[in-house]
Amino acid sequence: MLLLDTIVAPATPPGEGGIGIVRVSGPRAGDLLAAVYRGKLAPAEMASHHLYHGHLLNRDHQRVDEVLAVLMRAPRSYTGEDVVEVHCHGGVQILRCVLDLFLDAGARMAEPGEFTQRAFLNGRLDLAQAEAVIEVIRARSDRASRVALNQLEGQLSQQIHRFSEQIKEALALLEAHIDFPDDEVGTLALDDLAAPLQLLAEDMSALAGSFDVGRALREGISVLILGRPNVGKSSLMNAILGEPRAIVTEFAGTTRDTLEEQLVLAGFPVRLVDAAGVRDTDDPIESEGVQRARDKAAAADLVLLVVDGSAPLTDEDELALQLCHAGKTLLVINKSDQAQACDLSRLTTFSQQVAVSAKYGLGLTELRAAIVDHLGKDTALAGSEGVVITERRHRDALLRAVTSLEAFLRATTGPVHLEFLALELREALTALGLVTGETTPDEILEQIFSRFCIGK
Ligand code: GDP
Repeated sequence: MLLLDTIVAPATPPGEGGIGIVRVSGPRAGDLLAAVYRGKLAPAEMASHHLYHGHLLNRDHQRVDEVLAVLMRAPRSYTGEDVVEVHCHGGVQILRCVLDLFLDAGARMAEPGEFTQRAFLNGRLDLAQAEAVIEVIRARSDRASRVALNQLEGQLSQQIHRFSEQIKEALALLEAHIDFPDDEVGTLALDDLAAPLQLLAEDMSALAGSFDVGRALREGISVLILGRPNVGKSSLMNAILGEPRAIVTEFAGTTRDTLEEQLVLAGFPVRLVDAAGVRDTDDPIESEGVQRARDKAAAADLVLLVVDGSAPLTDEDELALQLCHAGKTLLVINKSDQAQACDLSRLTTFSQQVAVSAKYGLGLTELRAAIVDHLGKDTALAGSEGVVITERRHRDALLRAVTSLEAFLRATTGPVHLEFLALELREALTALGLVTGETTPDEILEQIFSRFCIGK
């Protein structure tokens, strides 16, 4: 594909910063730099991938900024085209002026994700790698960024290629039998073909299954703190976060609005939400809060149901209990520093229980461990650093490929038409190609790149 125009965009976010970078890509990148830059060397004489000091000048030859400029010649650049990056001062006005200089000189403003799209179209990155670029930028935990970086470096793509290669081998054998039919050899060969493809289908299903973990890494996990007023929810939130953020008071019903904070547990980004106190009340604000708590309990990945261990259970506690689904609830018995007066026999539906004192920081290690344990169980990972699927699109493509392989395997057990078998294998290959972009339709590509930010 020929991309004739030269595009420009700021590569750093808007606002003030030590430096701001404007990126230019396309066949005229060097010429456009020559039009606006004055330094010891003209761009035509610059060594590729070296920084040069100079000034940007406007049409009236007035200095716009003092800069460092780098020219990265094709094909050794991010996009695979000639790329210029100008490091200027990181001010809103300066960046706007520098951008205008390049636009006046003949560049076009880049669309969101267009640099990465060009990298894809020029074969610098495949689609799974291009999608990983945005994951690296948006990662909210160490582990999430490692998984994204692995994908950017091609680990998922290599895995997909290994799958494809195996299918292609089987297809080649099959096609040989179609072209040169020999019944006896054909029947024998089918068993030989089926066994490895059976294993392959299992590997592909397992990879698709890693999406549970991938999604948790990417989107984070929502943990809701729920309980009647005054059991110590705000205190617990502060204790888990390690600093006071929610308002703690002696009076019941102060946390009317839900509070949300982010933290990282076992490498998973976690959204910790303090729901409004659950209580049957005529107070319109509070009952709205109860309704919201009900909705949030349904939507949360995990609910920390807090009860006050130093007091008997009340009707309000019962109301909170009713909002919780036992399978995704961790019972937190708070105020363990005081004499215990709560009848725990009524709470046996909740198999996971932890006693804590939010106020004095007791039992928090156990609580964190119990949360992590719950996450690990639900997401079927805890230590894997291998390839993890983070895109629903990738998972769906893998499952499509598995479906085709299964149809192939079923067909090999009965009377069989070799053409049909070959068709199923080709379908599986097409589905795998959706991950790396080889078979992805243009409109889907457009959609994927439009999710990127300007300048990426
Ligand atoms: P919320 O309404 O559920 O958010 O409860 P708060 O966090 O506002 O706490 C209500 C009251 O319980 C405050 O006076 C807290 O100091 C007290 N409290 C919270 N946790 C503990 C605890 O572990 N032990 C004791 N003794 N008091 C606590």
